[in-house]
Amino acid sequence: MTAVHVPGTPLIEAGRLVSTSPATGAEAGRLPVATEADVRAAVDRARPAADWWAGLGFAGRRDRLQRWRGVLARRIEELAELMHTEGGKPVGDAVVEILTALEHIDWAARNARRVLGPRRVRSRLILAEFTGHLEYQPYGVVGVIGPWNYPVFTPIGSAAYALAAGNAVVFKPSEYTPAVGQWLVDRFAEVVPEQPVFQAVHGLGDVGAALCRSGVAKLAFTGSTATAKKVMAACAETLTPVLLEAGGKDAMIVDADADLDAAAEAAVWGGLTNAGQTCIGIERVYAVDQVFDAFVDKVVAKAGRLTVGADGTDLGPITMPSQIDVIRRHIDDAVARGGRAVLGGPEAVQPPYVHPTVLVDVPEDSAAVREETFGPTLTVNRVRDVDEAVERANALPYGLGGSVFGRARAVAVARRMRSGMASVNSALTFAGMSTLPFGGTGESGFGRIHGEDGLREFGRPKAVTRRRARSLLPAMTFERTPADVARLVKVAKLMYGRGR
Ligand code: NDP
Repeated sequence: MTAVHVPGTPLIEAGRLVSTSPATGAEAGRLPVATEADVRAAVDRARPAADWWAGLGFAGRRDRLQRWRGVLARRIEELAELMHTEGGKPVGDAVVEILTALEHIDWAARNARRVLGPRRVRSRLILAEFTGHLEYQPYGVVGVIGPWNYPVFTPIGSAAYALAAGNAVVFKPSEYTPAVGQWLVDRFAEVVPEQPVFQAVHGLGDVGAALCRSGVAKLAFTGSTATAKKVMAACAETLTPVLLEAGGKDAMIVDADADLDAAAEAAVWGGLTNAGQTCIGIERVYAVDQVFDAFVDKVVAKAGRLTVGADGTDLGPITMPSQIDVIRRHIDDAVARGGRAVLGGPEAVQPPYVHPTVLVDVPEDSAAVREETFGPTLTVNRVRDVDEAVERANALPYGLGGSVFGRARAVAVARRMRSGMASVNSALTFAGMSTLPFGGTGESGFGRIHGEDGLREFGRPKAVTRRRARSLLPAMTFERTPADVARLVKVAKLMYGRGR
């Protein structure tokens, strides 16, 4: 007896990875599965390609990346449709995701030279006869492993920055979204036909593991915390540096002076967009006592209006069928332990869909508050004041993003959140701001994509000193005399001996 295929679950047939729509089961793509040898061969092919690409210089790469951006922008409807078919994402959400990715390609291409290019660095009095030179040189071949939930935004957040920095990229898309990954790579090959600068390798988790061991010079991973740990362990064997963008359980804090309509709108968007399958999605809200009831009413009213279904709706299906069990467990557990479903609840889980669910008074130690749910659910809990909100928000091992609504204290509260990013009076906006670094702390990973830090992540700092004149105070030479040493003692006391 053959097992029934659950729509959306990837299949392997005759050496091909078949990806299917989680809503309809329709085939979205069929890609060759890479063996370990294939992955190594891709990385080997990428090495000379990386040299060639680096040789184009910042201006040459900028031109190609801008052309790639142009192709993606002109074919935005086609890509959005493919994302919709393959992952179930509403077309509108796909368009927003692509737009954000285009902005990142554009910014990385335009700013790589300024951030990474060679420059003089001032020397200080102690080595006044030297000049310093700094540049960030490409690693060579960078491996990128991506998740399915934002199959364009997340890989491009690493790949565009790595490419702008002069690296070749071998990309392993999620097995749930290989067709979208291959589409991005194919469009890149149209504007860079000369060399395999950006390649994709397909398959299940073992292909990702093979990429970690393939000899890439750096690996950028986006995915769950559990897999991030495996990736880091595999990369440790060869001291391959890693960038880990892992899971989250982001909180929103609603202060007493918040605009409650705006806060409710952002909580519903931040928590439920992409059916809640967002690493920086709002999963927990802490609202202060004075505004709690009014805020919850507004959230329920707004979330209750959302439509759910395959086409033309606000929320699509859950992309990874197995995640439905996690969502169900979190809702059931929250309700069993005294939480109240003020919208949705256990009956909201109707595979492959989950309807909006808002849970209040959920125990802080329950799975719905502590673990990544990755569904269209929000927990909203009452707190005495913002201090208690910050304490609870910061109580988890995750630390990816966050959001604060309020006026007087909002920025100060955002700064106190133990997270890599926060939005004040909005949700998720930091992801689209190409000038800001994106990444987390604790179990959410480390390293940064986006912004100047994101570019530097893909370049090795190369420091060069150059002598301009004879040393007046010879220190680093066997030629120095006892008189020189005596003068060095004087200099040490004069320059650094003051103060306590
Ligand atoms: P997974 O960790 O399951 O998978 C991520 C990628 O890693 C996939 O391509 C997967 O391949 C691959 N992989 C699986 N096993 C291994 C292995 N042993 N070695 C190397 N690679 C492996 O995450 P999901 O795809 O389920 O994505 C959802 C998660 O990603 C959530 O936790 C979410 O929070 C997080 N995320 C984080 C973001 C951030 O920027 N911090 C952004 C977006 C998502 P395969 O699919 O073939 O198994």
